[in-house]
Order: sequence, then structure tokens, then C-alpha cells
Amino acid sequence: MIRIAALALVLAPQEPPAADPLGFVSRRLDNGVRVHAIELGDATRVAVFTFLPVGLANDPLGRAQFAHLAEHMLIRATDSERLQVGGMSFNGETTGSVQRLESLGPLDDWKDLVGRHADWLSAREFDADVLEREKLRIEGEERNTVPQGLNHKWAIAAWSQVVAGSQNVRVHGDVATATVPQIERYVRDRVRLADARIFVAGPISPTDVIDAIERAFGDAPGTTSKPTSGPSTAESRPHAAPFTEPGHRDVTWDFDARQYLEWFPLPADLSGIEAELLRNVVAQACFQVGDLRRLPGRGSADVVVRDGRRFLLFTAAVPDPESEPRIREAFADAVDNAIRLAGNIDPSMLAAPFRDVPDFEAHRARIHVAHIRELVEANWLLQVGYACARTGKEPAELAAAFDAIDPKRVAKRLSDACESSLRRSASLHPPVSEGEPR
Ligand SMILES: [Zn+2]
Repeated sequence: MIRIAALALVLAPQEPPAADPLGFVSRRLDNGVRVHAIELGDATRVAVFTFLPVGLANDPLGRAQFAHLAEHMLIRATDSERLQVGGMSFNGETTGSVQRLESLGPLDDWKDLVGRHADWLSAREFDADVLEREKLRIEGEERNTVPQGLNHKWAIAAWSQVVAGSQNVRVHGDVATATVPQIERYVRDRVRLADARIFVAGPISPTDVIDAIERAFGDAPGTTSKPTSGPSTAESRPHAAPFTEPGHRDVTWDFDARQYLEWFPLPADLSGIEAELLRNVVAQACFQVGDLRRLPGRGSADVVVRDGRRFLLFTAAVPDPESEPRIREAFADAVDNAIRLAGNIDPSMLAAPFRDVPDFEAHRARIHVAHIRELVEANWLLQVGYACARTGKEPAELAAAFDAIDPKRVAKRLSDACESSLRRSASLHPPVSEGEPR
């Protein structure tokens, strides 16, 4: 510990850690990674989350679901067989706009828990056998969801291809035929240290945590801790015939299911924090529409980011082709609901989780399942991390930013953006084979 403290003194003058009212200590490391650590004395587990702006909605043409594949490959860079090592567990989740890598475990393992994230973020070379195994795992996830109509995630992956101009989307196929050079190039282009944010909570001193992460990057194999610079090839590569104009198109995809997509570009002057309010109200608005609630997997809405632009994206599993017009109407109702909800929402409710560190002991007392009781701190950290990752804010800025939202302005922006003449939509269906009715 004495050695660590001495090292901290040497490193500190370059960029002193900044404390915030919530108690996070934040520092941007020399390699560009931002670390936000908070000491929570009563936590029985240490939670570490990395967030990257690598989402399913932003994948390039011919690389459907690569954000998801990259998540699998990064985590397997340290533990190719298991997601449990001793008391530690590792996991990941890729949404439309954000990728999360996580490690959870006991206090004794905290250095291993934070060190994993440096190794994952530094991984640039991948193993062919691991790739083949992860393809099978992803195929298993597809098999467990598609037959039940739980296609939300695959629908976002498909959308990335539709807007890039694809007529025959290969959400399964692009992963199934992925090669090691393809995934290495993808990770090199898209997993950029300067975009990464690591959140850590546990009964450990934040400066010790930050110093340990800095050292772990120094020791990590693969890339050095030099910041990634220059334009990424992914961003400078033009998309083929992007489908960004209003209208409808029929597209095939390689799942035995039908899915309806509908989207609206959101105004460029809508801030990240306003978009967060929108995410909230559109999800609620969809839930209020009975026709959407009854669908398999429920009709849902999300704000996704592609090429730096935000879109409101609705998706629904279509039980049979005849029900598609009804789903379109249901989404129109959901938009009306969302405009009303947005105009009437109390922004201070959205700010509440970020105003103070919650009373975790009180939370714990209300939970009767032991392993969930241990996760109250981790769940709050997750909420803070996602909010920061999606809005670009610091933890300390969240509450004030939500408080400052003008709900009427957001409602007006939503109403302007979702005019029916601006609707883009697509029907996804399997390729037609003989004997199948259209
Ligand atoms: Zn997965």
C-alpha cells in the first residue's frame, strides 16, 4: 500500500482527481480512459463496469451484430472458458448504443476485478477457436429468443443494416461467417480507449482503485497505453445507399420471424440528457398501448445512435403479416402518448437517483433474496454508468442536468420529429420459399 501511495504522488500532478458531491472520484488516465470510482463502505461486493459507445445500431454494412460479437470476444480475452473464477463473475451486454463489460466479486479480489477491464480494453488479437465457440454461444442466444418473438436486440442489429442499404440482412449470418481479421479490425476501429469509461464501487479507496487501473493498463498485453488517435476507418467509411429518407421498404433477414421497424431522426439540437428523458417516456408510452403490450416480446422503443445522430426506433415482433397495419397504428398511438407524457413529466423525478448516494441499507432491508441484496450498490452504479455513458455527463452533473430540462421543449421536439410524413419503416421477413404465403 505504501508503494501505491508513493506512485499516486508521482502521477497525481498531471491530472489531479476531481471529487464530486456524490462522492465519485474521477480521473482521465494518460491513455484517455476515464475512471469514476466511489467508496461505498458497506458494500459486500466490488462492482466494476466499463461502458463503450459501441452499439448494435451503429454497426457497418455487412457487420450486423459485430458489437455483440466484440463484447463476447473482449471478455473471453482473459477467461476463454468460464465467466466465473472463484468468487468473481464476468458478464457483458450490448444495447443499441452502448456496450457494457462487467466484473463483480468479493473485496479480496478487487485488483483482479479492475485489472480484467484493462486487459479487455487492450485486447486487439483474438483466437480462432474462441471465435468459433462464441459464434455458437450467440447462435444459442438467438435460438432461445427468436421462436418466442423476443427479437428486440436482433431488430436493432437488423436496423443498422437496413439504414446502411441492405436488402438482405444477415443478423445471424454476418456473425456465423465472421473471421478473426474481421473482428480484429472491428475492435481496432471501434474500441477506443478515449471513449471508454470505467465505473467502480466498493469498500476501497477511489485513488487506490484509479492507480491500480492505471498500472493494469501499463501491464496489459496487446496495445500499449498510448491513446488511440486519428479518424477511425469505420467512421470514415461511407455507407452504401443509406436508407434515411421517409418511406417503407420490405427487407429479408435470416431469422424465421417477422419484425416491424419504424424510426424517426431526432433533431440535432436535442441534448443527450433530453434524449434520456425521451427514452424514458417512449418506453412508458409503448407500454400504455394495449396492442403493443400484448405482442410477443412487446412492442418497444429506444433512442439509438448511428454516426453520431440520434434516432427514435420502434420495433415489434409481427405474429402474422395481417397484424402489421394494426402495429403501425399502435405505434402512432404510442407517439401521441409519448408527446403528452414528455410535456407533463417532472424532470426532478428523473434527477432523483443521481441527487444523493442512496440509503443502501434501507434498500437491502426490503430485499429478501440474498444474492440480489448484495447487488444494491452495483445496480445503482449501473444506473449512474448508463446515464453517463448515454449523455456524456459526469456523475456529479446528472441531477442538475435533469432538473434543467424544459419538458415542453422536449415534447415539441418529439412532436416535430415524429410527424407521420417523416416516418421511415421496414418489414423484416424470412426469404420467401416455395409454398409459403406472402
Ligand atoms: Zn451475448
